[in-house]
Amino acid sequence: MKSREVHLNAYLQGEPKPENFSVVEADLPAPDIGQVRVRNTYISVDPYMRGRMSGRHTYIAPFAIGAVMEGGAVGVVADSEFDGLNPGDHVMSMYGWREGYTAAGNTVMKIDTQSLPEQAYLGIAGLTGLTAYVGLKRMIDLKEGETVWMSAGAGAVGSAGIQFAKAMGATVIATAGGAEKCEYVKSIGADHAIDYKATDDLAAAIRAVAPQGVDAYFENVGGTHFTAALEVLNPRGRIAACGMIQRYNDAEQASITDNLTMIVGKSLNIRGFIVSDHMDIQGDFVSDLTSWMMAGKIQPAETVLDGIDQAPAAFMGLFEGRNTGKMLVKI
Ligand code: NDP
Repeated sequence: MKSREVHLNAYLQGEPKPENFSVVEADLPAPDIGQVRVRNTYISVDPYMRGRMSGRHTYIAPFAIGAVMEGGAVGVVADSEFDGLNPGDHVMSMYGWREGYTAAGNTVMKIDTQSLPEQAYLGIAGLTGLTAYVGLKRMIDLKEGETVWMSAGAGAVGSAGIQFAKAMGATVIATAGGAEKCEYVKSIGADHAIDYKATDDLAAAIRAVAPQGVDAYFENVGGTHFTAALEVLNPRGRIAACGMIQRYNDAEQASITDNLTMIVGKSLNIRGFIVSDHMDIQGDFVSDLTSWMMAGKIQPAETVLDGIDQAPAAFMGLFEGRNTGKMLVKI
């Protein structure tokens, strides 16, 4: 059996380009004792992967050059020599960027596809949803009646965060690129939507919809958004520093933003986090998500490209705003 997989050709600087990736055919051997052979059905592409393509060691090691990359994936067991997994079982793994794999059965996790579609485990019910939850619950400690600004609101974490924040009783301002995305964030509950591409004064646009100020900011973008957030946050405002995608393709670390003195003057609390350090909150997350879903408060959204050949385009599309909701590749 064969499987096509995506390799990184060399560490890159600046915007990722199609020539940075190769699609390569590999053998998919029958499983040995303790192994499973799995056909992936969906793979995830995520902004954090850009950091792994730079060759720098951050909180996670760089991708290997000339080898298949890693990432979230869901798939179906084709053959099993592992107790506890049978052909037909759906599993989640980190064996993404490929059509299939043969691996130790204890490195994949069985998932229940009765109550949720399998791809939700890569989105709202997986690490994406957990990221939004950790940011709102643990970093910001969002309270009912507060006003929160969710940046990249039409994206995977952002769209989950808008719906979670509404379920927590907050007023939500969402920023997103373009009129269509603004319509979308309103359709999932945002009280106010701002097209950041259509304004040259983001802070003024936020103030116009939130004259009472903003209590908390969910940072997915960085740069101009961060500068505006420091300006519009109320005294003792909180920031969940989740991501700064505006800077991920910068070859050099960007210069320090304006408005930093406001951190002192307003006693702002800025908390950076990596979701994998907060797995202990998973039980609360599943319990809240289940009750919000049962109450009809959650609408998962995905942008799906078809076929492993499209995986590099899906990844590059994240930096061009091509996705609404979670960006996935269907295999
Ligand atoms: P998204 O689905 O939000 O996709 C990225 C979106 O970012 C795009 O759709 C685009 O939306 C926006 N964007 C891209 N480039 C720019 C830019 N230059 N300026 C402004 N907006 C831009 O991705 P995720 O939801 O997966 O991730 C969102 C953020 O959360 C990222 O920063 C990511 O790194 C971070 N993250 C952090 C985690 C953690 O553990 N801390 C875990 C998971 C994600 P638009 O069209 O609106 O511009």
